[in-house]
Amino acid sequence: MTRTKRLGSFAWLGALLIAGLPLAGLARPVIAPPPSLTTVWSEANYDAAIPTTNSILGFEIGREMARHAEVTRYFEVLSAAAPERMKVFEYGESWEGRKLIYGVISSPKNIARLTDIKAAMKRLADPRKLAKGEAETLIQDNPAVVWLAYSVHGNEPGTTDAALMTAYHLLASRGDARVARMLDETLVVIVPLQNPDGRERFVNSNQAARGLEPDPSPLSAERDEPWPGGRMNHYIFDMNRDWFTQTQPEMRAHVAIMLEWMPVAVADVHEMGTNQTYFFPPEADPLNPNLTSTQLKNVERIARNHAAWFDQFGLRYFNREIFDGFFPGYGSGWPNYQGASAMVYEQGSSRGLVAQRSDGSLLHFADTVKSQFIASLSTIEVVASNRAQFLRDFVGFRASAIREGQREAIKSYVIPAEPDADMAARLASTLVRNGIEVQSAVERFSVCGRTFSAGSYVVSAAQPAKRLIRTLLHEKTEMDAEFIKQQEQRVNRGLPDEIYDVTAWSLPLMFNVPVVACNTNPIIEGPMVDADWRLAGGVRGGQSAVGFVVPWGSTASVRFLTAGLRAGLAIKSANKRFSLAGVDYPAGSLFIDAAVEPSRVATQVAQIAQQAGVQAVAIDESWVDSGISLGSPNMLNMPTPRIALAWDAPTDRYSAGHARFVLERQFGYPVTLIRTRRLASANLDGIDVLVLPGQSGSYTSALGKKGAEHLKSWVERGGVLIALGSGTRYLSEAQADLLPLKLESALVSDATSEQGSKKKSNAKAESDKDESSGRVAGTAITSVDELEAAERPLEAPPRPVAGVLARATTESDHWLAAGVQDRLHVLVTGNDIYTPVRRDEADTVARFAAPEDVLASGVLWEENRKQLAFKPFVVSKRSGRGLVIGFTADPNFRAHMAGLNLIFMNAIFRGAAMTHEASRY
Ligand SMILES: [Zn+2]
Repeated sequence: MTRTKRLGSFAWLGALLIAGLPLAGLARPVIAPPPSLTTVWSEANYDAAIPTTNSILGFEIGREMARHAEVTRYFEVLSAAAPERMKVFEYGESWEGRKLIYGVISSPKNIARLTDIKAAMKRLADPRKLAKGEAETLIQDNPAVVWLAYSVHGNEPGTTDAALMTAYHLLASRGDARVARMLDETLVVIVPLQNPDGRERFVNSNQAARGLEPDPSPLSAERDEPWPGGRMNHYIFDMNRDWFTQTQPEMRAHVAIMLEWMPVAVADVHEMGTNQTYFFPPEADPLNPNLTSTQLKNVERIARNHAAWFDQFGLRYFNREIFDGFFPGYGSGWPNYQGASAMVYEQGSSRGLVAQRSDGSLLHFADTVKSQFIASLSTIEVVASNRAQFLRDFVGFRASAIREGQREAIKSYVIPAEPDADMAARLASTLVRNGIEVQSAVERFSVCGRTFSAGSYVVSAAQPAKRLIRTLLHEKTEMDAEFIKQQEQRVNRGLPDEIYDVTAWSLPLMFNVPVVACNTNPIIEGPMVDADWRLAGGVRGGQSAVGFVVPWGSTASVRFLTAGLRAGLAIKSANKRFSLAGVDYPAGSLFIDAAVEPSRVATQVAQIAQQAGVQAVAIDESWVDSGISLGSPNMLNMPTPRIALAWDAPTDRYSAGHARFVLERQFGYPVTLIRTRRLASANLDGIDVLVLPGQSGSYTSALGKKGAEHLKSWVERGGVLIALGSGTRYLSEAQADLLPLKLESALVSDATSEQGSKKKSNAKAESDKDESSGRVAGTAITSVDELEAAERPLEAPPRPVAGVLARATTESDHWLAAGVQDRLHVLVTGNDIYTPVRRDEADTVARFAAPEDVLASGVLWEENRKQLAFKPFVVSKRSGRGLVIGFTADPNFRAHMAGLNLIFMNAIFRGAAMTHEASRY
């Protein structure tokens, strides 16, 4: 058995103290060892037959941060030592290939009948199928599932070790009536490490910076993580926003096991800033209106138990002030919509083995493990004491959801197969992965005065997950009006708003699928959609001596392009629409010529179409009915571009990770990551397209004047430079001056402008002020509005926006908008608004909609709504042989904005084709 040797760990320090080595003269006082967690519960009597981490991993829990392999090993050892009370399951794999595991801990009686318990929960979860009296029998006979999930953020280290301590305590405690009751009444599911890749990154950087002993300094490199930090997974996703979109395998797998077990209570365990105490619910306002009062009551019941324990241990905490319950994509949000009572716990982080807080006190890693351990046990304790009630409330939630779906005006939702069958299928399977039933129609059907083609989908509202359906499919989830008013007043006074995350997440808007809400529930024929549902691809018409056409416009057609280019297929893309054999093909449509090697091309096209899930069309003759011909100079040769992405500071890590993920994992196309500082001087000649993600520092200062010249000259020689979100600022700033965009200040309202002109005259007065008196001319303020205007900073940026879905319109005949719908939805966050661009200076390819139309969903301040209207979203400018394209809002936000995939991919692939064409002459 190998034991881990850790530099600077507390075990090492202990040995040093025992050896009595001279310690005098150290630059800082010797840190006392952290508290031992085995004495937290004074009455605990731990069975020596259950191995401690000390005996297995070589350190006591709380003395070191367990690595992923150690967590897995210890869980396996625990379950081997007490197989009758603990089972360990593997539920997936991280991007970097680390096993995702969870443990189930309960009494021997319960562990012996896990399959039955799962089946019982499945029955309770669907009251439509319950026989009379069956629910009560199942409630009497089954434990309640409690879900404890740790470390979705990899740099919140104490949480995972609290999972180890909780498991150890439940298994090793002897003669403890409280623990016996927990095991009898509940089935505890422990997910010890949701984000192993992020944690490994964090522990590595922490250990690499360690020296003689753990360093508590707030400045220490141990806790100052290098870019991108350990919070996120491999693709730099905040997985605590990914619960309903499930773009990341770690979250997809987590949701799948939760739907299998159906917990009644869920705690998602986190850490926050070092100087904070501890947070548990009630959560802050605003709350999602789809949460029920019973759930909030159950959460409060658990919270009050925590409060009592924390009082007993002298631990301080707070609730209600931050971490609101509005966004459904958190680990403490999503499970609520399935009927659990879900909570977030947050402990101030030691972000290492010991940290100095601002009051001078030391926070040990073990302290952070201790509070989470107490809160974990307290959670189980409450459910154990109220088992039947929690189960009844769970069934009640799901039964009332069905009743609401039967009673309320909206009885079903139709996902039309048109205009984008691929996106409709993606939406349908996403819903299914959320535990929502979706049926596919094999034939056309009519409902709500409309006819839908075969391949459309129906979602009945009368199902147990109805509240989740509602918050995901409705365009708007209403936020409390009084709360919005307060927030608007706050931002008007220059204070930040108190909204924790985006205020809009409607899937139909994000996917740009026109879902129809219906007042009846149509009966249709067709299979239920499953989680892996996708459209079959292939070739319509079989062999062809002329070639094949792939209609442009769906994400499947983009997958065909990327896979085709990678396979070496020669592909052309139409710059304009055409009609052939009675079929209309939009601009962008792909033509694969089969004249030279017909059989090789036919085989490849069939293979790639199948893989991409697209229908390619075999062309028997080349004569077009209208529009451009297949041999037209307007058929662009599509090159196979080398794509580079600026990586590392000062890029916004999320924006960089999301762009990379969309290209690599959603479209299967490789990207070269180049550290930003290299861009100032590196030879970029082999690169066709360079993507600048959003910035969290400044590209202008990172790249300098020389860097700007370097990039400009690369563009002029034929490069395509694409900036995303705040990265577009760089293109507009004086040093780079790559796009004629100007960032706007806040709107000057009428009152402000009046006051502004007074101010100006004051300023004038100031310059003319009497040298001897040093005074300016007097003014009278006659209203609060005037006062606010007078106090408002001049030249202030617009108010920041938490995150809304805004409507944009496209210039449909622009090459960058080929195949793109003329209405798009854009996630707008922050406060970057740019002036319109003159037509002779650059092309505005997409712009935000008119003031009355611009807000599709979410909370947008009145002034921002007025100011955002008609402003640019996508701007493109030719520069020498190259191109510069700016997206003023990030099209890849969290990889949630599927409806913007096409315009982003057009910028890259059609952009590269445009410049290649230009370079030929
Ligand atoms: Zn967290």
